[in-house]
Amino acid sequence: MDQRTALVTGASSGIGLAIARRLTEDGARVYLTGRRVPELDAAAAQLGPNAIAVPCDVSEAADLDRLFAIIRGDGRPLDVVVANAGLGAAARLQDATEEQYAHVFDVNVKGTLLTVQKSVPLLADGASVILISSSTNRHGAEKMGLYAASKAAVRSLGRTWAAELAPRVRVNVISPGPVVTPATDALAGRLGSTPEQFHESVGATVPLGRMGRPEEIADVAAFLAGPGSSFVTGAEFDVDGGLNQV
Ligand code: NAD
Repeated sequence: MDQRTALVTGASSGIGLAIARRLTEDGARVYLTGRRVPELDAAAAQLGPNAIAVPCDVSEAADLDRLFAIIRGDGRPLDVVVANAGLGAAARLQDATEEQYAHVFDVNVKGTLLTVQKSVPLLADGASVILISSSTNRHGAEKMGLYAASKAAVRSLGRTWAAELAPRVRVNVISPGPVVTPATDALAGRLGSTPEQFHESVGATVPLGRMGRPEEIADVAAFLAGPGSSFVTGAEFDVDGGLNQV
């Protein structure tokens, strides 16, 4: 990744932070975005001088315009874009609200669309775009309807964009299974469990017997960002301990 430039959205914690860390370790200059400025600045500080924090809400077109103006102003094309920012809402069919629908789809679907759409003019020839979907995009799980549907949309957009941007740019999708992050620990709290109880009970449903670590998603992102995946586009990588396969 030496001399290459990457953008990772939602990089102040969890999977996005792990991907940003891995790309900086591999030598890339990485723009990190997030909404929470102190957390974002702390994340960038951890990663050193090749990490540049730019506050940005991916569901706000004006924020993204400001982000891409900064990147354009730095004068280097983007080699890697990781559309990672995302969130969920837990609600059964009968309880789901219009506000929950709007929030989840604004961040996960519109945010991914705008991030990739606005990055296209800045993408280098041979660039790699990586979308973060979820293993929930393919199976039913109680209370996960809005989130799962939004992640199925992300997976679908990845297929279309791979066709539209080929042969200049590759587009691939990572669908993580359950991964230990601040988001899943907060979910544990909402479900009345401690993080440890939640890790154990969810891990027991995974063929590999545990939840994943953010670094395990970052390993696959690093592969998709780099030359080792030069003939891979339009693909979905299930990084889920076998949840959707076994
Ligand atoms: P996290 O909450 O630790 O991190 C999410 C990041 O996205 C945070 O930095 C947050 O600030 C940012 N973010 C949220 N809304 C944003 C917005 N509107 N604009 C900009 N940034 C925003 O969560 P995580 O578990 O690391 O999740 C990262 C991605 O991975 C999400 O897309 C999530 O849906 C996906 N995912 C997570 C899991 C899991 O088990 N943790 C599983 C499958 C998919």
